[in-house]
Amino acid sequence: MSGSEDAIPGHDFAVVRCRECAREVVTYPDPSPDDPDVRRCVHCDERASGPLRWLGVADLDALGYVVDSGEDAGSECTSCGTGGCGVKPAGDGS
Ligand SMILES: [Zn+2]
Repeated sequence: MSGSEDAIPGHDFAVVRCRECAREVVTYPDPSPDDPDVRRCVHCDERASGPLRWLGVADLDALGYVVDSGEDAGSECTSCGTGGCGVKPAGDGS
């Protein structure tokens, strides 16, 4: 659970098994001063726990993600694995 943050070139998506979604999900980084390595599920914002897997776009197919030019009606951003986006699903409750 340490030292695996090195992204492989061309493998820009960190996926992890989400216990809420009961599947492997793409994660986004949500660093805090206390814990700069936090990543969260793009679907439910559950904190990622467990080993990350770094995948390329082509590999996301197998997980049921469709990554294209944004024509799809999905609300999640699945096109950024770099943290530059910050888009996440609506519903900012708690
Ligand atoms: Zn989730």
